[in-house]
Amino acid sequence: MADIIQLLPDNIANQIAAGEVIQRPGSAVKELLENAVDAGATEIRLIISDAGKNLVQVIDNGKGMSETDARMSFERHATSKIKVIDDLFHIKTMGFRGEALASIAAVAQVELKTRRAEDELGTFIEIENSTVVKQEPCAFSVGTSISMKNLFFNVPARRNFLKSNAAETRHIIDEFIRVAMSFPHIFFSMTSNGQDVFHLEKGNLKQRVTQILGNSYNAKLVNVKEDTDYMNIYGFVGKPDTAKKTRGDQYLFVNNRFIKSAYLNHAVNTCFDNLVAKDSFPSYVLYIDLDPSQIDINVHPTKQEIKFEDEKIIYAFVQAAVKHALAQFSIAPSLDFSLNAEIQQLDAVSNPFSEERQSSASTSNLFQSFTQKNQAHKIDPSERSELSHWKDFFVETDSRPLPTNRELSNDLLPELNTAKQSPFDNQELTCMQLHNSYIISSFKSGFILVHQQLAHERILYEKYSLMVHSKQMPTQKLLFPITLELAVADAILLEDLLPEITQLGYLIEHFGNNTFIIQGTPADIKQGNEKHSIELLLEQFKHFTSEMKFSKREKLVRCMARQQSIKTGQLLGTTEMKALINDLFECNTPNVTPAGNPTYIEYKQDYIERMFER
Ligand code: ADP
Ligand code: MG
Repeated sequence: MADIIQLLPDNIANQIAAGEVIQRPGSAVKELLENAVDAGATEIRLIISDAGKNLVQVIDNGKGMSETDARMSFERHATSKIKVIDDLFHIKTMGFRGEALASIAAVAQVELKTRRAEDELGTFIEIENSTVVKQEPCAFSVGTSISMKNLFFNVPARRNFLKSNAAETRHIIDEFIRVAMSFPHIFFSMTSNGQDVFHLEKGNLKQRVTQILGNSYNAKLVNVKEDTDYMNIYGFVGKPDTAKKTRGDQYLFVNNRFIKSAYLNHAVNTCFDNLVAKDSFPSYVLYIDLDPSQIDINVHPTKQEIKFEDEKIIYAFVQAAVKHALAQFSIAPSLDFSLNAEIQQLDAVSNPFSEERQSSASTSNLFQSFTQKNQAHKIDPSERSELSHWKDFFVETDSRPLPTNRELSNDLLPELNTAKQSPFDNQELTCMQLHNSYIISSFKSGFILVHQQLAHERILYEKYSLMVHSKQMPTQKLLFPITLELAVADAILLEDLLPEITQLGYLIEHFGNNTFIIQGTPADIKQGNEKHSIELLLEQFKHFTSEMKFSKREKLVRCMARQQSIKTGQLLGTTEMKALINDLFECNTPNVTPAGNPTYIEYKQDYIERMFER
């Protein structure tokens, strides 16, 4: 029999390798932006069309490439950034694997234009399917422009696998933000289908962060800054009222590289225990700088995960720095700043310098840093801060003016009269509220315990579902329209949702860029808190998007029902309670919320009797 093993042709090998690095347009954006940064550019422009499926182009004013390098750059394992294996442990560039351009050229049509300052003419190269189709000299400004067209044109299965334009644009924006946040001294812009999405002038870190997260963050960022010989940490944490229901605004960078680390994320989150609601995530943008030899970046093809030489120290350090910051700004009590016992026992922390250690361990200076005054864990009791502020923040996170009693009854009463066959056996409905949260009510021959919030959520859910599928909900115009300025990603989401939101009774106009004008709200919603309601709606919607089985409309209805429901803790009058219970049993599925929680618990008479052992 003949031998059967063959070497794969280059273009197929490259296509397979590309699967690791280029999964979607956003991955190409990341690689191209990082290359521009590595090339020393001070201005970087990103242009996309059709969510990057048609075109991803990055133009930079970096150092450009020679004719030979331009050609070489598309070879697999072609890199100018490392030469020997040892270089891997001193990486100062974003790239080093020499795979990105080769991968992109394997799965898309690519055009490169580049010129170095010392060359009179630049180079133009066109590549398709890993094959150079055209190469010629061209006139070009100093720097590089790379266009990636028709991603996956030659791998239809993967092209079909791409998500909706909204979702892919979201990925691109995420990648753009991660790079732009790391390099505030570089100008970045992004246009999508000819429209400006970002225009980020050079500035300091805080300016860059607020340019991206939105101006509303300006007064809500708390500075974090701790320097030691082992590592530096700086950046911002959001005051507790910037906490979100989704992980959206959590950014961690190590040596300017955005990374995902559940472990370090936990370190930050614990600092916010008791400051933000249990199901919310604090916002933060934190940068850690440390000796590259202390980390291994090369553990993941897209370098989003890295390995630390000593993760425990980093954890303790991040936690201490954030706690310190919160305490200094009177946001958290400065009670517990000692390093936890486990950390304290680590050699680097607990053993004082010996000559020997001093020379051997480059990390041993940590001990000094950790015992210096004004470092994170060294806060004198006298510095304990005023606690009243942070409590305010906490309350604000969850506060939404509740409808007043009168509004509630207006809302619920008309439907009371139309009550059909009642489950109450024609007897007068008697009910009583307990703990401002539950309603106990007679029911057939026994009684029920109703959860007022969950019951109301069911009622609103059916009401909104009906309206959204038939006619538009009535709108009440606002006397004074409200301007809503959103972060870019939220603006894109809201624009995407506008038709459905309109159907629900909101009247919102897109006012260009990230600004919207709220002109009206659904008729039965209390006015005065529109901005917060919309922001919350977007948050909850994002929270929901993991559950793909629901349509956009269904998700929105569910969010609205949850958001507008009477909350526990709200005192109800007898009329309101009766209306609520009647409305509940008007519903098609009165016994559970849309999410499946019970809305009431029934106690049947024979069951009760048995409880009394009769
Ligand atoms: P890596 O970044 O890991 O080295 P890439 O495939 O991304 O691998 O790029 C290959 C090489 O092409 C880089 O090492 C660099 O020398 C060159 N290169 C890529 N993009 C640019 C650019 N925008 N400007 C200048 N040189 C570039
Ligand atoms: Mg690269």
